Amino acid sequence: MLGLYVHIPFCSAICNYCNFNRGLFDAALKDQYVQALLREIASQGDRSVADTIYFGGGTPSLLEPSEIAAIIEACRGAFDVTADAEITMEANPETVTPERLAGFRDAGVTRLSYGVQSFRDEELQRLSRLHSASRAGDAFAMARAAGFDNISLDLMMWLPQQAIAHWLESVEALIALGPDHASLYILELYPNAPLREAMARSKWSLAPDDDAAEMYLEAMRRLDAAGYEQYEISNVARPGRESRHNLKYWTDGEWLGFGCGAHSTRRGVRWKNLSSTTEYIAVVASGGQPGVEKRELSRREALEEALFTGLRLTRGIDVHTVKTRYNADVWGIYGSELERFREAGLLIYDGRLLRLSRAGMLLANEIMSQFLGSPVVD
Ligand code: SF4
Repeated sequence: MLGLYVHIPFCSAICNYCNFNRGLFDAALKDQYVQALLREIASQGDRSVADTIYFGGGTPSLLEPSEIAAIIEACRGAFDVTADAEITMEANPETVTPERLAGFRDAGVTRLSYGVQSFRDEELQRLSRLHSASRAGDAFAMARAAGFDNISLDLMMWLPQQAIAHWLESVEALIALGPDHASLYILELYPNAPLREAMARSKWSLAPDDDAAEMYLEAMRRLDAAGYEQYEISNVARPGRESRHNLKYWTDGEWLGFGCGAHSTRRGVRWKNLSSTTEYIAVVASGGQPGVEKRELSRREALEEALFTGLRLTRGIDVHTVKTRYNADVWGIYGSELERFREAGLLIYDGRLLRLSRAGMLLANEIMSQFLGSPVVD
């Protein structure tokens, strides 16, 4: 079944580490953008069955509930959206009120994903986030009170000046709230991130690499103990609460993306939409298609991607499925390179499933790079 992704590129302020496709909120531009989204969704509709809708951003919770409702309606008009569809909206804690949350729920949103990042105020300030730790807790409680029984919280680790104990305070605060799903990401600083300058100016440093590894491993141990199941390198969930939408990205699924910069993958073809918000609006308003860089995935690309994403999942890669789908013998092709990782306890292979151990997840990029550019699968 298809997943539908809807990009909302507006934010109240731009965080100093953010490299997403976003810009400052502008009410007039937002109105035009929502109209363009409705038009694009209608133009792509073919009544295919879709079982997820995901509002990502940017900050989708800056939209009015009536706008979210109109976009969901447009999806239902253009696709056969299942009755039990997972409809996720990313939200920033400072943007919600009980009334707005009730409105989003009435609009059809079934799952909220809050960008919390930290439960320590000084860390949030260093990241130039607009909310405080207590605001994040309030936003969570408001969402529960509004009836959301599927809430995810994002945290970021290895922040400037963050010691292991600081990070674990945030992890414990998250566990105390009891969300249904959590995503833990390592802060990645892109080359010109303003946070880099702030770090240099204020002499903030990052903990040593070994501490970053310990942050990850200890957080996962505590989440295990609290009843969460890790299902992907960065994601844990209560049983049955895995992100159905994101699993499509990791299991060779198909999805259509709407809005500026959104990516789509369908029937072996991949494309992305124009990144610029204004260009996207102009093209859609004139009846054009915003999709660019359309290309068919080669067999090698499709295989490599299936291996990359499959290894991100804790259940790993089913080599029999890969053999059937791509006619590729995974261990036969890559086994000689992978054996040293298996011997080091980083990779586990039982003849059918190939998966990373938790220690292996720390070296995922290095292990996955073995899949790149194999001459055998042209
Ligand atoms: S709120 Fe999210 S998308 Fe917006 S600037 Fe901050 S990190 Fe980026």
